[in-house]
Amino acid sequence: MSLTSTSQQFKANAHHALGDADLQAAMAHVPTGFVASRAAAIARLPEFEALRDSARDIKNHTLAHLDLYLEAYESKVLAAGGHVHFARTSDEANAIVLEICKSHGAKTVTKGKSMISEEIGLNAVLDANGIKPIETDLGEYIIQLRRETPSHIIAPAAHLTKDQVEADFRRVHVNLDAKRDLEEPQTLLAEARTIMRQNFLAADIGITGANFLIAETGTSIIVTNEGNGDLTQSLPKVHVVLAAIEKLVPTLEDAAQILRVLARSATGQDMSVYTTLSTGPRRADDPDGPEHYHVIILDNGRSSMLAGPFKDMLRCIRCGASMNHCPVYQSIGGHAYGWVYPGPMGAVLTPSFIGLDQSSDLPNASTFCGQCESVCPVRIPLPGLMRLWRERSFSRQLMPFAQRAALGFWVFFAKNPRLYRAATWAAMSALGFFARGRDNLNALPFLKAWTKSRDFPAPQGGTFQAQWAKRHKGPKS
Ligand code: SF4
Repeated sequence: MSLTSTSQQFKANAHHALGDADLQAAMAHVPTGFVASRAAAIARLPEFEALRDSARDIKNHTLAHLDLYLEAYESKVLAAGGHVHFARTSDEANAIVLEICKSHGAKTVTKGKSMISEEIGLNAVLDANGIKPIETDLGEYIIQLRRETPSHIIAPAAHLTKDQVEADFRRVHVNLDAKRDLEEPQTLLAEARTIMRQNFLAADIGITGANFLIAETGTSIIVTNEGNGDLTQSLPKVHVVLAAIEKLVPTLEDAAQILRVLARSATGQDMSVYTTLSTGPRRADDPDGPEHYHVIILDNGRSSMLAGPFKDMLRCIRCGASMNHCPVYQSIGGHAYGWVYPGPMGAVLTPSFIGLDQSSDLPNASTFCGQCESVCPVRIPLPGLMRLWRERSFSRQLMPFAQRAALGFWVFFAKNPRLYRAATWAAMSALGFFARGRDNLNALPFLKAWTKSRDFPAPQGGTFQAQWAKRHKGPKS
């Protein structure tokens, strides 16, 4: 674990997030933005469901033969004049980046957005070694100014309002006219672009992530909407690609298939604005490009996942749809999850990477509404995987005693149908008493904390089992 985690304080983090007015204002845009755009994009593509199957199958096939595809990829990169480094841990990956920086005397590094660099805590390591990392994705640039981490895997500054960003620009860009007009978002964008152009030209090394590593050609592909990936990798003398083992796909055709579901699931675009391919350093007749090309492929616990029940999670293509559609993420944003990956995908990945002891609340941070699984473009069974973590948390006694006792109580009744029916009837009668004719209960004495901010529907008719029995019995003749 390279980044300090506050996943253990999830409940306190979530509580704080719910009371943060700026955060709540920013998060209100998620359903109207990402969610609505995805729905519209999918409505325009009748074969979307078939493409999801295809994307899932490509990822499953690659994971089943990952050793072969990693070898094939490595040999193609070497043949193109590049270097491939395999890193088992975050520390190894950071050490490799540092070694490359030192060997080129680098003082400044520009970075295209890379969640892997967040996972390994690269910026802190570069800073500590006198190398200045500069984020070039607009959202990443903004949170770097604020010394924050991303709150969303594709929209790192999703937790901020425009007014907060304007205040940050005025605080940091002190050499610009204090009276300049930054009212419109476009003016903020133009200001960031002007500053970023100077950074691109001054950088010694460019580091990008990768959406895909192509085994048949040794190519890495990065998608962006700002073109910052292109400038990061083509202007400096050295290009470093930082990616994890699950980014492999066999062919360019496979990547093209998955690209068709990626942008639609992520931002509701048919395609991202830039899809940039790089294969090795510049060749003799290339007009531009880096002189040196390195790929660092990170494991960091993924090989262990590959051999276990969380293998499906390695299909993730980091589109962000699961968090965009998650009612918990929509309410509290990404920082409350306390580590790099938020939302339902983080609730599965974080325990795998930093341990269940450090993150046992995360798999419980779900209503199990199933939205995440229903929108995942590679059909990852996220609720099932979270349930698996919950089971482990229960058997390792990581849940609070009251929660374990309540579950034990429920199991006892569930195993005794007559008692269960009697108990649910008694509970219904009690709830009916508290409802006193209202549709919702909002002040249950024994669920005060829960009902304080939620409505609890009052019982309508008999218990579920009684209504089921009545319906299937049919009217008496
Ligand atoms: S789990 Fe699925 S929906 Fe969520 S980010 Fe990964 S690919 Fe996208």
